[in-house]
Amino acid sequence: MPADLLHVARQRSPAVGSLVALLLAVSACMLWGIHSFDTSARWVSHTHRVLAEIESVRSALNSTESAARGFRLSGDEGLEAAYLDHRPEALRRVGDLARLVADNPPQQRKAMELRGLVVDRLAQIRRTVELDQAGRDGDANEVMVTEGAAMNRRIDDLTVEMVDVENRLLVEREAVSTRDAWVLTVVVVIGIFVSLAILGSLLSMVGREARRARRLEQETRNALVTLEASVGQREHLAEQRRILGAFAGLLHSCQTVAEALDVAGNALAQLVPNGAGVCYVMRASQNLLELNALFGTHGSEFPDAMRPDQCWALRRGHLHAFDPTRPTARCEHLDGLPDDVACGVCVPLASQGTVLGLLHVSNRLGEPLTELQRAAVESVAEHLGVVLYSLELRESLRVQSLRDPLTGLYNRRYLEESLPREIERCERRGRPLSVLMLDVDYFKRFNDEHGHGAGDALLTKIGQVLAAVTRGEDIACRYGGEEFTIVMPEAGLEQAAARAEQIRLAIGEASITYMRRELGPVTVSIGVHELQVGLDTPQTLLATADRALYAAKAQGRNRVLRSTLPSMHGALPGSAGA
Ligand code: GH3
Ligand code: MG
Ligand code: MG
Repeated sequence: MPADLLHVARQRSPAVGSLVALLLAVSACMLWGIHSFDTSARWVSHTHRVLAEIESVRSALNSTESAARGFRLSGDEGLEAAYLDHRPEALRRVGDLARLVADNPPQQRKAMELRGLVVDRLAQIRRTVELDQAGRDGDANEVMVTEGAAMNRRIDDLTVEMVDVENRLLVEREAVSTRDAWVLTVVVVIGIFVSLAILGSLLSMVGREARRARRLEQETRNALVTLEASVGQREHLAEQRRILGAFAGLLHSCQTVAEALDVAGNALAQLVPNGAGVCYVMRASQNLLELNALFGTHGSEFPDAMRPDQCWALRRGHLHAFDPTRPTARCEHLDGLPDDVACGVCVPLASQGTVLGLLHVSNRLGEPLTELQRAAVESVAEHLGVVLYSLELRESLRVQSLRDPLTGLYNRRYLEESLPREIERCERRGRPLSVLMLDVDYFKRFNDEHGHGAGDALLTKIGQVLAAVTRGEDIACRYGGEEFTIVMPEAGLEQAAARAEQIRLAIGEASITYMRRELGPVTVSIGVHELQVGLDTPQTLLATADRALYAAKAQGRNRVLRSTLPSMHGALPGSAGA
């Protein structure tokens, strides 16, 4: 701002300076014109005064002479008084005349001469009066006629000379005065026009500067508003970064998907005040997404499941915003929801090219999210995608470590981990639990006849049959070799034996194909045992079922045998069948 003013001053000052200088010059010319005109007018007036003074001298002298003559002829005292008054008047006038022409030496000399003549003439008049009073009328008349007439002529000549000189001067001075008056008129007229032009220029300059100052002020005000907004936005951004930082820290320590979604929901609630969000998690089949509430609520029902192709964000692989006030495409999975609920953003949850879910966040007030909020939602989705991917990876690794690769069933390690938990749960609920031990009959022979690969194919087939026949809560495991264990929570001995029979029949009927060859049917023997509450441990449970299995083998194989004996305590059977 000060820099701008400085710039204006620097730019404008030469122009303003020139205009002020011109104004001063015009004023000086006008003053000079006035002064010249005044001087020449004074001189004209002065000349008039000189002429008047010459006339006054003559008049005073004539009056003195007339009063003296009248007094001599009539003896009137009034005329004597007039004579006595006019005498000093004539002297004073001629003195004044001498002072008036002091500027003009030739005229002054004439004035001094005139003064001398006036003094002499007055003295002459007095002498005639005195002669007359002394009764010498004749002498007095003589003086008046002879000397007086000569002196009056000289006085007249001198005054005429002086008047001539003054008249010449008057003509010259009036010419100068007329010229000065004309010059003054021209100067004043030009001065008025120039002054008006300068005034106009200055006023327009001042107007321009006022407008510029107003514009600068407005710009400064706008800049301040922008600055305040950017400071506010920076603070908002810093707060958002803090929330996202805390969120990322917590998120990466999550052990389960539910935990991760909970943490993400808390972060979104802070990042989008008045917001609500739902999260869909992709099924392993990759063809359906299932709803998981995340944070806030609109009071409207989002569908429990959706297909990936129902969302523009999932189709295009990036954020899609729906704003009912603009011509934007609306996702199909939002069908049936009011505009103010659907108005928001969909962001895919993905990592390493794998789509793991979908995040939909909107404002409960029905307003579109701000740019900053969108960026925050995208950031949350990005972190969440990475964490969901790593949790899924971890889960699949965990599952892999608990599964038997050949049959796809759980392995012995998983059985040992889960059996105590299942026993405890059934005991707590007062529910039964049974265990089947299954062994393929003459498997060694099968291997010998058809090869080890065919043996593996048979084991894989048994795995498929067990997976198909058992319930979701049953735990079907490959115990080792061609021996399998099925834990059946909430199943009593009879129910378990019936299921074992079903398994035995299913395996007996299963077709085993290997190298495009149909291999002969195989049979299995199964021992069944129900948990004896308070007596059985996981080890005795399995050992007792195993003994029943061996009893089945002993009785001729291809059969199911219930454990009728009390629980047996002993070593667990080996993987190859003890
Ligand atoms: P039975 O149980 O009826 O008394 O006779 P069996 O021939 O099945 O008895 P045994 O337990 O002695 O034989 C088990 C055979 O299973 C031994 C081994 O070669 C075979 N076997 C164990 N694990 C595997 C495996 O993973 N694949 C294949 N192909 N064979 C296996
Ligand atoms: Mg066997
Ligand atoms: Mg065996």
